[in-house]
Amino acid sequence: MMIIKGIGLDSSSKIAFQSHAHSDHFVSADIIISTRPTKFLSHFKKAGFYKTYSFERSFYIGEYKAKLYPAGHMLGSAQLYIKFDEFSLLYTGDVKWFKLRTAEKSKFRKADVLIIEATYGLPMYNFPTPKEAEKKLIAFVEEVLDRKKFQLYTQIKWGRLKNYLKFWIFMVILPEFQTAYGKLLKCMKNLV
Ligand SMILES: [Zn+2]
Repeated sequence: MMIIKGIGLDSSSKIAFQSHAHSDHFVSADIIISTRPTKFLSHFKKAGFYKTYSFERSFYIGEYKAKLYPAGHMLGSAQLYIKFDEFSLLYTGDVKWFKLRTAEKSKFRKADVLIIEATYGLPMYNFPTPKEAEKKLIAFVEEVLDRKKFQLYTQIKWGRLKNYLKFWIFMVILPEFQTAYGKLLKCMKNLV
């Protein structure tokens, strides 16, 4: 999050790029560059400030040629590639290497300078893959249902919550998940 040549990278400036719609990346600017999903998931009231672009379509920020690439972090999350006179730059914001159910698959391109978000960049942060996490979640749901006691997730951030919501939709569709979902519905009916 910084300003380079007057262009805010997830930072407020006269003209700024907003990489995605998580609130810690919201910016104020006369012109906010983003994807359409980011615009609609962000400031409805300030929507007039947004200039939206599709992935991998060239456009100009002032005199500099630029392109957005999917970052895979949430729906509409983007990286900004920009070609300055002296060097090219790829700015990522939050980024994911693997495909999420709720986001476009990330795509990367080479640049002279890479600025990358590193929230969990230390080796001590070692998270399970989405598949492993889903398996754990199913096991957890099964266990809770068997005990007939409900627990609520209270600390799920919006981005993660969306993943879970989509995940639950998949649970309804995929036959192997229907047993767990059926049990859940049955228990919920008993609660009402
Ligand atoms: Zn984020």
